[in-house]
Amino acid sequence: MHLELSEHHQQIQQLARDFAQTELASVASKNDETHTFAKEQIKKLGELGFMGIAIDEAYGGAGQDPLSYVLVIEEISKVCAATGVALSVNNSLVAEVLKNFGTEEQKQKFLVPVAQGEKLGAYCLTEPMSGSDAATMATTAVRQGDHYIINGAKNWITNGSYSDVMIVFAMTDSSKGAKGINAFVLDTKTPGVEIGKAENKTGIRSSSTCTISFTDVKIPVTQRLGDELSGFIIAMKTLDNGRIGIAAQAVGIAQAALDEAIKYGFERKQFGKPILENQGLKWMISDMSTRVEAARLLTYQAAFKKTQGGRFTRYSAAAKLFASETATFVTHHALQIHGGYGYTRDYPVERYIRDARVTEIYEGTSEIQRLVIAAQTLKEFEF
Ligand SMILES: Cc1cc2nc3c(=O)[nH]c(=O)nc-3n(C[C@H](O)[C@H](O)[C@H](O)COP(=O)(O)OP(=O)(O)OC[C@H]3O[C@@H](n4cnc5c(N)ncnc54)[C@H](O)[C@@H]3O)c2cc1C
Repeated sequence: MHLELSEHHQQIQQLARDFAQTELASVASKNDETHTFAKEQIKKLGELGFMGIAIDEAYGGAGQDPLSYVLVIEEISKVCAATGVALSVNNSLVAEVLKNFGTEEQKQKFLVPVAQGEKLGAYCLTEPMSGSDAATMATTAVRQGDHYIINGAKNWITNGSYSDVMIVFAMTDSSKGAKGINAFVLDTKTPGVEIGKAENKTGIRSSSTCTISFTDVKIPVTQRLGDELSGFIIAMKTLDNGRIGIAAQAVGIAQAALDEAIKYGFERKQFGKPILENQGLKWMISDMSTRVEAARLLTYQAAFKKTQGGRFTRYSAAAKLFASETATFVTHHALQIHGGYGYTRDYPVERYIRDARVTEIYEGTSEIQRLVIAAQTLKEFEF
């Protein structure tokens, strides 16, 4: 068992770290304030191969492994978590779906430009009345000969306003519930697709999140992913991938908050000494640092399990659950260590606390992760 990163992984980590410092550090806070999507930087991430990290080079990707993907998301999110989620969605919720379930024709047409970073991807599962219970979606896909007609609306769609390619889930046979859903790949410019209002979010404010509506959107059967009515399985397997990315995003945010707390705690003096010389604050740092390491190990483990093949549902859910709650815990304490100054926009910890919070919500809330972990754990238990 090796717990050290290989030289190759260290190089990828350093490449992402350097990129984050040179391209994102100076704009992250301003973009957050002004709701500005880091379009230029996303383009450059594509040039580095980071928009399709674990996609084969033959399909426009960088041909790296899941651990490389985790390292990149962590480093980018340490500096700008909003860019981290844009990257994560493109990689794991769009490129990976096309890699795993796309036909050769779909791969050539949609995967190659998405993995190269020439086109941006979005994943459209959630609806206004169907969040955690995704199988109750109201968007429909009615088969008419060799086409489907899609009608409905999705909300909370990351990358939505800037997306070129969308993975869309829609109900074809509601009598079958979760087994009546189809998954499709669409060009965002298809007639009938309308990008709606952008959300005014609490955190990850420079990421794009919007509503998308579908009115009589006609798409050929050749744009259906996988077998007829296999959409829900595709959605769930894809979230197994995505959750590793969100776990890495949360680790990045938590590490950034810990670093800032230590820096500030050494500089700030009260009662004639740096505040970090107080045992109470040292205990805080100790709990923060231990949890960050544990979250990172769980996240690496999930990536490792994915590399091995087979089901990794429990591992990705556990990594996402623990890392997201760690990010909330660590950012909360980092702000506390900053005292009143942490409660202003002059220090980055207030952004970290806002950014951390969403990692417990998207790609399945903490409550849903607990349901998933319990179900898998009980299934694996041998009497
Ligand atoms: C910034 C942002 C970006 C997003 N990006 C995307 C995206 O790109 N694509 C996409 O499809 N979706 C996206 N989402 C949607 C996200 O996945 C959902 O918000 C999430 O799944 C929860 O659904 P909901 O908000 O409807 O909450 P609800 O499902 O209404 O849940 C509300 C509360 O009830 C709890 N709850 C619900 N059911 C149970 C249960 N059985 N047991 C215990 N507790 C339960 C939940 O945990 C939560 O605390 C995004 C959301 C946000 C905020």
